[in-house]
Amino acid sequence: MRVRHKPWAKDKLAEYPNIVVTNPTKHYGEWHQIFENNHPIHLEIGTGKGGFITEMAKAHPDSNFIGIEMHDSVIVSALEKCLDLSLDNVRLLNVDARELADFFAESEISELYLNFSDPWPKNRHEKRRLTYHTFLAQYEFVLEKGGRLNLKTDNQGLFEYSLESFSRYGLTLDNLSLDLHKSDFPLNVLTEYEKKFSDMGHRIYRCEAIFGK
Ligand code: SAM
Repeated sequence: MRVRHKPWAKDKLAEYPNIVVTNPTKHYGEWHQIFENNHPIHLEIGTGKGGFITEMAKAHPDSNFIGIEMHDSVIVSALEKCLDLSLDNVRLLNVDARELADFFAESEISELYLNFSDPWPKNRHEKRRLTYHTFLAQYEFVLEKGGRLNLKTDNQGLFEYSLESFSRYGLTLDNLSLDLHKSDFPLNVLTEYEKKFSDMGHRIYRCEAIFGK
Protein backbone atom coordinates (compact mmCIF):
# COMPACT_ATOMS: atom_id res chain seq x y z
CA MET A 1 0.00 0.00 0.00
CA ARG A 2 1.31 3.48 -0.91
CA VAL A 3 1.09 5.88 2.03
CA ARG A 4 1.09 9.67 1.55
CA HIS A 5 3.47 10.97 4.19
CA LYS A 6 1.94 13.53 6.57
CA PRO A 7 4.79 15.05 8.58
CA TRP A 8 2.33 16.51 11.12
CA ALA A 9 0.63 13.18 11.87
CA LYS A 10 2.80 12.17 14.85
CA ASP A 11 2.21 15.49 16.65
CA LYS A 12 -1.54 15.33 16.02
CA LEU A 13 -1.75 11.76 17.38
CA ALA A 14 0.17 12.85 20.50
CA GLU A 15 -2.37 15.64 21.15
CA TYR A 16 -5.13 13.08 21.89
CA PRO A 17 -3.77 10.54 24.41
CA ASN A 18 -7.34 9.84 25.52
CA ILE A 19 -7.99 8.28 22.06
CA VAL A 20 -4.54 7.30 20.77
CA VAL A 21 -3.11 5.10 23.50
CA THR A 22 0.68 5.04 23.60
CA ASN A 23 2.66 2.20 25.11
CA PRO A 24 -0.17 -0.38 25.03
CA THR A 25 1.88 -2.99 26.92
CA LYS A 26 1.35 -0.83 30.02
CA HIS A 27 -2.39 -1.54 29.83
CA TYR A 28 -2.11 -5.32 29.48
CA GLY A 29 -5.20 -6.83 31.13
CA GLU A 30 -6.60 -3.39 31.98
CA TRP A 31 -8.40 -2.32 28.81
CA HIS A 32 -11.83 -2.31 30.45
CA GLN A 33 -10.47 0.27 32.89
CA ILE A 34 -9.34 2.43 29.96
CA PHE A 35 -12.92 2.40 28.63
CA GLU A 36 -14.34 2.74 32.16
CA ASN A 37 -16.94 0.02 31.52
CA ASN A 38 -17.28 -3.73 31.11
CA HIS A 39 -18.58 -3.72 27.55
CA PRO A 40 -17.08 -6.24 25.12
CA ILE A 41 -13.92 -5.14 23.32
CA HIS A 42 -13.76 -5.52 19.52
CA LEU A 43 -10.37 -5.26 17.82
CA GLU A 44 -9.60 -4.34 14.22
CA ILE A 45 -6.10 -5.00 12.90
CA GLY A 46 -4.97 -2.81 9.98
CA THR A 47 -7.62 -0.17 10.65
CA GLY A 48 -6.38 2.13 7.88
CA LYS A 49 -8.33 5.40 7.77
CA GLY A 50 -10.88 4.14 10.30
CA GLY A 51 -14.12 4.18 8.27
CA PHE A 52 -15.11 0.71 9.50
CA ILE A 53 -14.22 1.03 13.16
CA THR A 54 -15.86 4.44 13.57
CA GLU A 55 -19.11 3.35 11.84
CA MET A 56 -19.17 0.18 13.97
CA ALA A 57 -18.57 2.22 17.14
CA LYS A 58 -21.39 4.60 16.23
CA ALA A 59 -23.77 1.71 15.54
CA HIS A 60 -22.79 -0.21 18.71
CA PRO A 61 -22.44 2.24 21.61
CA ASP A 62 -22.56 -0.70 24.07
CA SER A 63 -19.31 -2.14 22.72
CA ASN A 64 -15.75 -0.86 22.81
CA PHE A 65 -13.52 -0.77 19.73
CA ILE A 66 -9.74 -0.75 19.40
CA GLY A 67 -8.05 -0.13 16.04
CA ILE A 68 -4.44 -1.07 15.38
CA GLU A 69 -2.66 0.58 12.46
CA MET A 70 1.11 0.83 12.02
CA HIS A 71 1.25 3.91 9.74
CA ASP A 72 0.83 7.25 11.55
CA SER A 73 -0.03 9.08 8.30
CA VAL A 74 -3.00 6.69 7.87
CA ILE A 75 -4.29 6.27 11.43
CA VAL A 76 -4.43 10.05 11.81
CA SER A 77 -7.51 9.97 9.50
CA ALA A 78 -9.14 7.49 11.91
CA LEU A 79 -8.42 9.91 14.76
CA GLU A 80 -10.09 12.74 12.80
CA LYS A 81 -13.20 10.59 12.30
CA CYS A 82 -13.34 9.79 16.05
CA LEU A 83 -13.14 13.52 16.81
CA ASP A 84 -15.78 14.47 14.20
CA LEU A 85 -18.19 11.86 15.57
CA SER A 86 -17.31 12.53 19.27
CA LEU A 87 -16.91 8.80 19.86
CA ASP A 88 -15.95 7.74 23.38
CA ASN A 89 -15.90 3.98 22.67
CA VAL A 90 -12.87 3.90 20.33
CA ARG A 91 -9.16 3.74 21.11
CA LEU A 92 -6.43 3.71 18.48
CA LEU A 93 -3.00 2.09 18.67
CA ASN A 94 -0.28 3.24 16.28
CA VAL A 95 1.72 0.02 16.55
CA ASP A 96 2.57 -3.19 14.70
CA ALA A 97 0.15 -6.05 15.40
CA ARG A 98 3.03 -8.53 15.55
CA GLU A 99 3.29 -7.68 19.26
CA LEU A 100 -0.43 -8.28 19.91
CA ALA A 101 -0.09 -10.77 22.76
CA ASP A 102 2.03 -8.21 24.65
CA PHE A 103 -0.83 -5.68 24.56
CA PHE A 104 -3.79 -7.82 25.60
CA ALA A 105 -4.23 -10.44 28.28
CA GLU A 106 -5.73 -13.86 27.65
CA SER A 107 -9.42 -13.63 26.59
CA GLU A 108 -9.50 -9.83 26.88
CA ILE A 109 -10.95 -9.41 23.35
CA SER A 110 -14.45 -10.49 22.27
CA GLU A 111 -14.25 -10.16 18.51
CA LEU A 112 -11.60 -9.47 15.89
CA TYR A 113 -11.71 -7.94 12.38
CA LEU A 114 -9.27 -8.18 9.48
CA ASN A 115 -10.46 -5.98 6.62
CA PHE A 116 -8.64 -5.96 3.29
CA SER A 117 -5.35 -6.97 4.85
CA ASP A 118 -2.24 -6.68 2.70
CA PRO A 119 -2.09 -9.95 0.68
CA TRP A 120 1.70 -10.40 0.58
CA PRO A 121 1.40 -12.69 -2.48
CA LYS A 122 5.05 -13.83 -2.61
CA ASN A 123 5.70 -17.13 -0.82
CA ARG A 124 8.74 -15.70 0.94
CA HIS A 125 6.45 -13.11 2.62
CA GLU A 126 3.94 -15.65 3.94
CA LYS A 127 4.87 -14.90 7.56
CA ARG A 128 3.67 -11.30 7.14
CA ARG A 129 0.11 -12.31 6.20
CA LEU A 130 -2.20 -11.53 9.10
CA THR A 131 -3.74 -15.01 8.81
CA TYR A 132 -0.37 -16.84 9.11
CA HIS A 133 -0.43 -19.38 11.94
CA THR A 134 1.78 -17.31 14.26
CA PHE A 135 -0.85 -14.52 14.10
CA LEU A 136 -3.65 -17.07 14.65
CA ALA A 137 -1.88 -18.24 17.83
CA GLN A 138 -1.90 -14.67 19.14
CA TYR A 139 -5.56 -14.21 18.19
CA GLU A 140 -6.39 -17.44 20.00
CA PHE A 141 -4.69 -16.12 23.14
CA VAL A 142 -6.33 -12.67 23.23
CA LEU A 143 -9.82 -13.81 22.12
CA GLU A 144 -12.37 -15.12 24.58
CA LYS A 145 -13.59 -18.70 24.13
CA GLY A 146 -15.88 -18.83 21.09
CA GLY A 147 -14.52 -15.46 19.88
CA ARG A 148 -14.74 -14.78 16.16
CA LEU A 149 -12.27 -13.50 13.62
CA ASN A 150 -14.21 -11.69 10.85
CA LEU A 151 -12.31 -11.52 7.57
CA LYS A 152 -13.17 -9.48 4.46
CA THR A 153 -11.04 -9.14 1.35
CA ASP A 154 -11.28 -8.73 -2.41
CA ASN A 155 -8.10 -10.77 -2.86
CA GLN A 156 -8.94 -14.32 -3.89
CA GLY A 157 -5.41 -15.57 -3.17
CA LEU A 158 -5.40 -14.22 0.38
CA PHE A 159 -8.92 -15.53 0.96
CA GLU A 160 -8.04 -19.07 -0.17
CA TYR A 161 -4.81 -18.98 1.83
CA SER A 162 -6.70 -17.80 4.94
CA LEU A 163 -9.37 -20.51 4.66
CA GLU A 164 -6.62 -23.13 4.45
CA SER A 165 -4.73 -21.57 7.35
CA PHE A 166 -7.91 -21.46 9.52
CA SER A 167 -8.76 -25.02 8.70
CA ARG A 168 -5.19 -26.27 9.40
CA TYR A 169 -5.36 -24.46 12.75
CA GLY A 170 -8.61 -26.31 13.57
CA LEU A 171 -10.93 -23.29 13.52
CA THR A 172 -14.63 -23.60 12.69
CA LEU A 173 -15.77 -21.54 9.69
CA ASP A 174 -19.11 -19.74 9.60
CA ASN A 175 -21.05 -17.32 7.37
CA LEU A 176 -18.78 -17.81 4.39
CA SER A 177 -19.60 -15.62 1.40
CA LEU A 178 -17.93 -15.67 -2.02
CA ASP A 179 -19.77 -12.50 -3.10
CA LEU A 180 -20.68 -10.49 -0.01
CA HIS A 181 -22.36 -7.59 -1.79
CA LYS A 182 -24.73 -9.97 -3.61
CA SER A 183 -25.47 -11.96 -0.42
CA ASP A 184 -28.13 -11.34 2.21
CA PHE A 185 -25.54 -10.65 4.96
CA PRO A 186 -27.23 -8.05 7.16
CA LEU A 187 -25.85 -4.60 7.96
CA ASN A 188 -22.46 -4.81 6.28
CA VAL A 189 -20.29 -1.82 7.30
CA LEU A 190 -18.07 -0.81 4.37
CA THR A 191 -14.37 -0.03 4.74
CA GLU A 192 -12.51 2.52 2.59
CA TYR A 193 -10.84 -0.24 0.54
CA GLU A 194 -14.12 -2.13 0.23
CA LYS A 195 -15.82 0.93 -1.31
CA LYS A 196 -12.93 1.47 -3.70
CA PHE A 197 -12.62 -2.17 -4.84
CA SER A 198 -16.34 -2.74 -5.04
CA ASP A 199 -16.74 0.39 -7.21
CA MET A 200 -14.05 -1.12 -9.47
CA GLY A 201 -16.25 -4.22 -9.83
CA HIS A 202 -14.23 -6.52 -7.55
CA ARG A 203 -16.08 -9.27 -5.74
CA ILE A 204 -15.81 -9.18 -1.92
CA TYR A 205 -15.11 -12.37 0.03
CA ARG A 206 -16.01 -12.77 3.72
CA CYS A 207 -15.88 -15.42 6.40
CA GLU A 208 -15.87 -15.85 10.16
CA ALA A 209 -13.47 -18.20 11.94
CA ILE A 210 -14.40 -19.32 15.45
CA PHE A 211 -11.75 -20.00 18.09
CA GLY A 212 -13.09 -22.78 20.33
CA LYS A 213 -9.98 -22.89 22.60
N1 SAM B 1 -8.77 -1.98 6.72
C1 SAM B 1 -8.65 -0.80 5.89
C2 SAM B 1 -9.67 -0.82 4.79
O1 SAM B 1 -10.25 -1.89 4.54
O2 SAM B 1 -9.93 0.23 4.20
C3 SAM B 1 -7.23 -0.64 5.35
C4 SAM B 1 -6.76 -1.71 4.41
S1 SAM B 1 -5.04 -1.51 3.93
C5 SAM B 1 -4.90 -2.48 2.49
C6 SAM B 1 -4.21 -2.51 5.14
C7 SAM B 1 -3.77 -1.72 6.35
O3 SAM B 1 -3.25 -2.61 7.32
C8 SAM B 1 -2.67 -0.73 6.04
O4 SAM B 1 -3.06 0.56 6.46
C9 SAM B 1 -1.46 -1.26 6.79
O5 SAM B 1 -0.60 -0.23 7.26
C10 SAM B 1 -2.11 -2.02 7.92
N2 SAM B 1 -1.28 -3.12 8.47
C11 SAM B 1 -0.77 -4.15 7.76
N3 SAM B 1 -0.05 -4.97 8.56
C12 SAM B 1 -0.13 -4.44 9.81
C13 SAM B 1 0.41 -4.81 11.07
N4 SAM B 1 1.19 -5.90 11.20
N5 SAM B 1 0.13 -4.05 12.15
C14 SAM B 1 -0.62 -2.92 12.02
N6 SAM B 1 -1.16 -2.51 10.85
C15 SAM B 1 -0.93 -3.26 9.75
